[in-house]
Amino acid sequence: MRVRPADLRRVGGRWIIAPMKSTGRGAPAARTSASHRRICIFCQRKGEETGFSREHLIPRNIGGALFLDDYVCKDCNDWLGSNVDTEIVRLPETLASMDALGLPHDRDGYLRRYYNLVGELNGAALRGVISGGRSRFPTQKLDDGSLLVPDERLEEHLTKIGARAGLPAEDVRTEVRRLLAATPEGPPVASRRIGVSLRRRTGRAAVALKPKRPPLPERELAKIAYEFLFLVLGRELFHPENDDPCNRLINTIGSFSGPKAAVVRLQPPSAGYEPLHVIHFRNSKGFVEMRVLLFGQIHFFVAPGRFRSVCLSGLQERFGSNIIGVQFQQRLDRRGMAFWGVCAEGPGVRLL
Ligand SMILES: [Zn+2]
Repeated sequence: MRVRPADLRRVGGRWIIAPMKSTGRGAPAARTSASHRRICIFCQRKGEETGFSREHLIPRNIGGALFLDDYVCKDCNDWLGSNVDTEIVRLPETLASMDALGLPHDRDGYLRRYYNLVGELNGAALRGVISGGRSRFPTQKLDDGSLLVPDERLEEHLTKIGARAGLPAEDVRTEVRRLLAATPEGPPVASRRIGVSLRRRTGRAAVALKPKRPPLPERELAKIAYEFLFLVLGRELFHPENDDPCNRLINTIGSFSGPKAAVVRLQPPSAGYEPLHVIHFRNSKGFVEMRVLLFGQIHFFVAPGRFRSVCLSGLQERFGSNIIGVQFQQRLDRRGMAFWGVCAEGPGVRLL
């Protein structure tokens, strides 16, 4: 167990991380001084130029309770919050996972902001709305030109049409009642008097959530990978030897042009949901590969590229000669979390 208690502390039931200090070996001298603490890991601005705030490695909107404290400036944090941290909740699987696990979340808000509700009934494509956590299909024109009217609005709707036809109110009521009674499911029934043809369709619409725009989870996964690498490697992550992989991650996070990190969706390892998030980092002779597994179901592989020897030597200096990677696991039900060392051979080592 080599993680110093000061590196990881529990504040108000949440975990705050102060990345492990650089050993100084191979890193510029300035990185080991107290002043290195307040440099934004994204824009590299210093404390005197900008304010700092807490950044959630795994986004708060999916129950992430792991923080970077004082390493991301407020501007970058705000930008990440509105441009990157919403990508995971744009994945329908995320909402399905939180629903399946009974985790508290702003389902209505996410649905309203990020999703359209679409349905299909008897071959007709429907647009739905979500309100109060319930989905419904309002009055709408269908592709074939007909009008879909929900049951509870039908009588009112037919009465309006009848009134427009110029019939006396009593005649309209009678005709509407006749129509409603005469249309069980089946062929349409016409009313010449009010000029409509009514067809009743029953059955449950097949409902699906469709993101308002395609989700870009790779941006969010690259952010998790970048911050986790900083957490484990500290300022040595920014050693000049590592410019290329760092830039690839940054390009992926910001959708900037230039080479990007490989971010690949994998099959989940099991069919069931798990109330946990896992980040796994492994360094094999400088080739870094990471896996992020959310809810046991959303599984990504992130490969920023080749990091130089400073990564492996830094890891081994901090954790021991045998350790080539680190695994973090957060349980969502009990809010517990653990760090494990990944050994080159033999079993893992519990770091905390
Ligand atoms: Zn910044």
